[in-house]
Amino acid sequence: MKGGRAIYIVGPCAAESREQVMETAKAISSLRFEAGDFKFIFRAGVWKPRTNPRTFQGAGAQALEWLADVKRTYGMAIATEVATPEHVAAALETGVDYLWIGARSSATPIVVQSLADSICDLRLKIGDLKGLLIKNPVNADAALWLGNIERLEKTGVPVMAVHRGCNHQPCWAMAHKVRLARPDIPMLLDPSHLSGDAQRVPELLEKIAELGLDGAMVEVHCDPEHALSDSEQQISPDELNAALRQLNAARGCSVNAASQQCIAAEPQLNWLRAEIDELDEQLWDTIAARMDVSRRIGEWKKAHGVAPLQPERYQTIVESLKLKVERLGLSPAFAMQIWDLIHEESLKQQ
Ligand code: PEP
Ligand code: MN
Repeated sequence: MKGGRAIYIVGPCAAESREQVMETAKAISSLRFEAGDFKFIFRAGVWKPRTNPRTFQGAGAQALEWLADVKRTYGMAIATEVATPEHVAAALETGVDYLWIGARSSATPIVVQSLADSICDLRLKIGDLKGLLIKNPVNADAALWLGNIERLEKTGVPVMAVHRGCNHQPCWAMAHKVRLARPDIPMLLDPSHLSGDAQRVPELLEKIAELGLDGAMVEVHCDPEHALSDSEQQISPDELNAALRQLNAARGCSVNAASQQCIAAEPQLNWLRAEIDELDEQLWDTIAARMDVSRRIGEWKKAHGVAPLQPERYQTIVESLKLKVERLGLSPAFAMQIWDLIHEESLKQQ
């Protein structure tokens, strides 16, 4: 965090009814005094970009009035997702303070440009837009995310990046590239879409302190179990309170303390560790998937009376492995050691 208060954009995945929106907002606004130094902006999606057309698609423009009610009643700034120039016009007319551009729109530069153009056209006439949030694209493309930031900056409205991962994987390398290229742009973490799992939200929020991020966008619902969208990743206002208290306590601890939790002073190292931990996880996932295929090959060989070890096949793989690792700048001896271990285990599995 580069000074200033952390920004927390919290609220349901989707505005479902006036009651659900108001009940969630009431609970969140009362947390302000318990959870400590957190500034809450209330979020809710009104037009939902859902994969399946037979599921809840959002309550539409009527729900903007419910958000306006939150602003009037609880004094929180309000945020919603826009995907078309018509969404931008309707949101600005209702006094929405922050607009976010979702991961699917972020994957399409023509969409982002049309949104930026409509903001430029409308902003002269309507309201006071406080900020534009751009999620990373659904594919792990740092250059595209950076290009979108640049397109939105032309509007003159302050821009923030939101890191929401890809396919429930963090893609820390992508976020790190953007952080290094644009340290001047606040970056928020979206642990809800990043993990797709409510249980993992508290542990991911700790990354804010570790990586020196500027806050978070978190899906919070008054009744997560019965949410009409993303129910498995939304947390309750009480769970948000507990996670933020924990975060406050961790932030307050001395950086010299022996505790491994107190590593907030080393964001540069922590970014690299986040990258390497994710790569290690992918390595093990790949090894486990490889063993699974290996077992299936073993079954086929048994059924067809073929010996587990085929020397010509082994030789072909070793030759192509040597060429491959040389191209990658790795030592062939090191690669052979690892390969022999994997192969040995594979034969055991067969
Ligand atoms: C959302 O925040 O509700 C949303 C749809 O997010 P994303 O675009 O990251 O999937
Ligand atoms: Mn959602």
